[in-house]
Amino acid sequence: MPALHGWVITPNMKDVRCQECRSQMEVGFILDHTHGRPKVTVWHPGEPERSFWRGLRVADDKLREINVYRCKKCGLLRAYA
Ligand SMILES: [Zn+2]
Repeated sequence: MPALHGWVITPNMKDVRCQECRSQMEVGFILDHTHGRPKVTVWHPGEPERSFWRGLRVADDKLREINVYRCKKCGLLRAYA
């Protein structure tokens, strides 16, 4: 499976611990089902600016896919982009 743009997991992020209960966290992502096509939710820098054509002005080259860790015990989420 090819690496996704902006998706970075360094070796020391393979044992991420929950800041609440110190349990192990597992990596995942937030699924975006807009327009019926599954996509990974992305992070965009800056504040949202309205655009007539697209709804929001989007700098496509600045987007980063968000990986989200979830604690297996308490469910706490922790996101990286
Ligand atoms: Zn936890």
